[in-house]
Amino acid sequence: MDLKSNHTAPVLTDPAPINKSRLGVHSGMLPYSRAAYSASLLLSIPRKKTGILDDVRSSSWLDAMKSSSPPHKKITKVFNNDYALSDADDAYNTWLVKYPSAIASFEQIANHAKGKRIALFLDYDGTLSPIVDNPDCAFMTDAMRAAVKKVAKCFPTAIISGRSRDKVYDFVGLTELYYAGSHGMDIIGPVRQSISGDHPNCIRSTDDQGKEVNLFQPASEFLPMIVEVFRSLVESTKDIIGAKVEDNKFCVSVHYRNVDEKNWDVVAQCVNDVLKDYPQLRLTHGRKVLEVRPVIDWDKGKAVTFLLKSLGLSDCDDVLPIYVGDDRTDEDAFKVLREGNQGYGILVSSAPKESKAVYSLRDPSEVMKFLNSLVACK
Ligand SMILES: [Mg+2]
Repeated sequence: MDLKSNHTAPVLTDPAPINKSRLGVHSGMLPYSRAAYSASLLLSIPRKKTGILDDVRSSSWLDAMKSSSPPHKKITKVFNNDYALSDADDAYNTWLVKYPSAIASFEQIANHAKGKRIALFLDYDGTLSPIVDNPDCAFMTDAMRAAVKKVAKCFPTAIISGRSRDKVYDFVGLTELYYAGSHGMDIIGPVRQSISGDHPNCIRSTDDQGKEVNLFQPASEFLPMIVEVFRSLVESTKDIIGAKVEDNKFCVSVHYRNVDEKNWDVVAQCVNDVLKDYPQLRLTHGRKVLEVRPVIDWDKGKAVTFLLKSLGLSDCDDVLPIYVGDDRTDEDAFKVLREGNQGYGILVSSAPKESKAVYSLRDPSEVMKFLNSLVACK
């Protein structure tokens, strides 16, 4: 991602800068003290005085917001003729050569999975549920829930979502799974003594069913700051019709899918203005959502690695991890699997886009078919 501001505001390029400390948390940032941090920052870093909207218009904020929200579905409505439809289909079919359908290629995947232990990782929004106007209503269908339940009985399965862990659990409602919320910054996984020893933020806990689990929250020190930023963003965007700020515990999402496109720069400016006071936070783009999260060296890819280790499945030749997701944040997980030459990333997309995934699925209904095929294959 290439969000760059032309001043010293804490809107950082993605991926996040890698820090030297164990979890990437700058030691000077902890414990959280905004006043102390801001004072030292003001002394050490010159700041440009910001004019209204100067920052977001002169940077690539809006370009990134638009590219995160491709209007491909509208093309067929605007050009309602065979030629336009054929062009879109041709583009998608060409793209499928590079990212083959995981359904059409299922036999190949199944052959590769023979004698291996599959570990399944699933994003939630846009993968198991449709993207809807109101993020509070992103419900999965009963058929999808049944498919996820069945597949989780066959293979260890985890949901890794940008939502808070509690919220994604409320949507999915299955106890058979592991859940990682806040882009992997809030994980409940199986108990492993070695994991707890490796990660100081990993503690023994019990889940809602009283089962002993490992609770891993690498950004726990940032919680008071995130709460403060959430409140500031709610206040600063309250007059923008359609804007919605969502508290996802260790990150904050600012949804603009219901905001008139001519006001997207106002949304961007509000977020930029709030973030200027928080160099410890960074911004990433999802599908019609700006996401604010701590600057720590942790993402969905690291969450996959952590969960594989928790499950006792890391460094094993006979393990085949499969990660299914639709978002830019899922690319971190695709990258981990691709670079580790272990398993497959599967991108859910109905429009051509570059990805680190190996295979593709068009939409959640194809995800369900794929999950059912995995169960049948088992
Ligand atoms: Mg998603």
